[in-house]
Amino acid sequence: MPSAPPSAPVVPLERAHIGIIGAGQLGQMIALAGMALGHEFTFLDPSPRPPAARLGRHIQAEFDDAAALEQLAVECDVLTFEFENVPVAALAPISQIQTLHPGTHALAIAQDRLEEKTFFGQHGIPVAPYAAVDSLDDLRAGIDRLGLPAVLKTRRLGYDGKGQFVLRTRDDAEPAWAAVHGQSCVLEAFVPFTREVSIIAVRSATGEQAFYPIGQNRHVGGILHRTDVPTEDSAQAQAEDHARRVLTALHYVGVLAIEFFEVDGRLIVNEMAPRVHNSGHWTQNGADTSQFENHVRAILGWPLGSTARTRPSVMLNLIGQMPDAQALLALPGTHWHDYGKEPRAGRKLGHLNITAAHEADCQAIAARAEALIFGTAPL
Ligand code: AMP
Repeated sequence: MPSAPPSAPVVPLERAHIGIIGAGQLGQMIALAGMALGHEFTFLDPSPRPPAARLGRHIQAEFDDAAALEQLAVECDVLTFEFENVPVAALAPISQIQTLHPGTHALAIAQDRLEEKTFFGQHGIPVAPYAAVDSLDDLRAGIDRLGLPAVLKTRRLGYDGKGQFVLRTRDDAEPAWAAVHGQSCVLEAFVPFTREVSIIAVRSATGEQAFYPIGQNRHVGGILHRTDVPTEDSAQAQAEDHARRVLTALHYVGVLAIEFFEVDGRLIVNEMAPRVHNSGHWTQNGADTSQFENHVRAILGWPLGSTARTRPSVMLNLIGQMPDAQALLALPGTHWHDYGKEPRAGRKLGHLNITAAHEADCQAIAARAEALIFGTAPL
């Protein structure tokens, strides 16, 4: 595992040129927030017309194109990424010539579920029992040790439930191992969680840290569908303690998301994302400062904005096809976010934030919005 890099220098405070690796919706929302602060953006992304390209210069190149990455590094004052599957080996050379936040150390850990679990364990953050799996024999031994059900996950390149298989009987071992095509995996004990929550944390290049109120997440088929932000959450202090350990251990700069399972009031970490995160989209309309603005402030060494929740909030993802914007916006307290992407099954195309003065009103409007988005029976 690479060692933690030294703290990077803080770039000029005003009107920075920020380079973002990746130009999807997260890059788009970082740029929308950063442009309001006076910054300009260049994006590197292999797609011909990615969402964020409408907001700045677009270098169309693969994520491991050394010449294109160098061009981005030379043109910009600071670099960040919105997508965590960028090859670390490709970023290592540019991180020598330009400030990259968060650094490759955090990225390398987050890209590998085994490294990630080892890291959490070393810092006293509880993880579900797990076993490293590199063969069918390892998988069978893992089942013997952890019991069933269990979840087999590829160590690398998994997201939104992709590269994951739930094993319910010993006979599931062989087909699950065939389905991962011999890739290195981890087997996790199935966690009988009562709910899933996540924390969005941020650390500035100056070392200042801040934490948003935790979100309560509902996933369907491994994809986030809804985030609620309870007023006072009993798990807030635990989540902050775990996030603080990660930020500090990694000398982390930028926004970090950590997802947890809650079991009997205790948080068990599932995974972390070294970037702005879908479960923090509610902050655009329900917090003093959005996660996107705070990410920009953090990587520039600016003072962080308040992370306080200003109003009860719910976020609903718009997946696969866009619903009727006019009907949803006719509901009070709704905020429409469209990424400008082509519809496709399972694709995140936008989200709807719902805010209200009172929690009961927010929940009632969210129920009506879910009925409009998903039909009469909310998922
Ligand atoms: P992940 O890609 O690891 O975030 O997993 C996607 C979703 O699958 C999670 O949000 C959970 O709903 C579910 N899941 C993943 N791992 C486990 C586990 N070990 N036990 C129970 N549910 C899980």
